Amino acid sequence: MDEQGLIKHIYDSQVKLGLACSRCKGELIPITSGDSITFFCEDAHETSVEQLIGDQSKDAGATLHTLIASWHKNAIALELLAQEARTQGRAKAVDILKRHISTLEARIEILKNTLDKKPTDKD
Ligand SMILES: [Zn+2]
Repeated sequence: MDEQGLIKHIYDSQVKLGLACSRCKGELIPITSGDSITFFCEDAHETSVEQLIGDQSKDAGATLHTLIASWHKNAIALELLAQEARTQGRAKAVDILKRHISTLEARIEILKNTLDKKPTDKD
């Protein structure tokens, strides 16, 4: 896989959230900035994690946990690719992969912290 194919592979393996924008029903994509995650639809409507947990059904919490698990799986897969690229001496590919792994790990951390702060309803 060349660098271009690698980037495509990374994007293709991104999880589909199944979370819809409350304003236009468009699909929400997570964007990490600093130490927070915000979700945006294609029309750039903004939805915070707190809003997702609060506004939507309890499914949102479950979906976010699924998302954490998927990101984790993603990071492990990328780590394997990075090891392979390293043995092949492809420094640029290793670089690209490492950057994506860091992004995923940061997202996992942020989302976990946010979810931990919100006790789930027990009714
Ligand atoms: Zn929208």
